[in-house]
Amino acid sequence: MALVKKRKCPECGGEMDAKLINLHYRREGVDLEVEVIGIPANVCVKCFYRIIPGKVAKYIDSLVDPIFESEKNRKEKILPSPHVGIQFPFLGRNAYA
Ligand SMILES: [Zn+2]
Repeated sequence: MALVKKRKCPECGGEMDAKLINLHYRREGVDLEVEVIGIPANVCVKCFYRIIPGKVAKYIDSLVDPIFESEKNRKEKILPSPHVGIQFPFLGRNAYA
């Protein structure tokens, strides 16, 4: 699959390693939060700079955007805005690096 290609860190020139990371998504004007767990990314071993492959970032946006949209378009506040979790199944390193 090689979603995460080997490359040098654009910030410090250090080595980058394929890892699964977690990200917290927030949007201006919306209280709802989305936590995405198990995203394949390149992480710099020196400065921890992270790069998510474009295809992966796009896919996650396509999952997360409708959740924020629906919360934004909500007319009546029935319950406090939730904390939504999205968890990808654990991938062996060979599946993405
Ligand atoms: Zn770096």
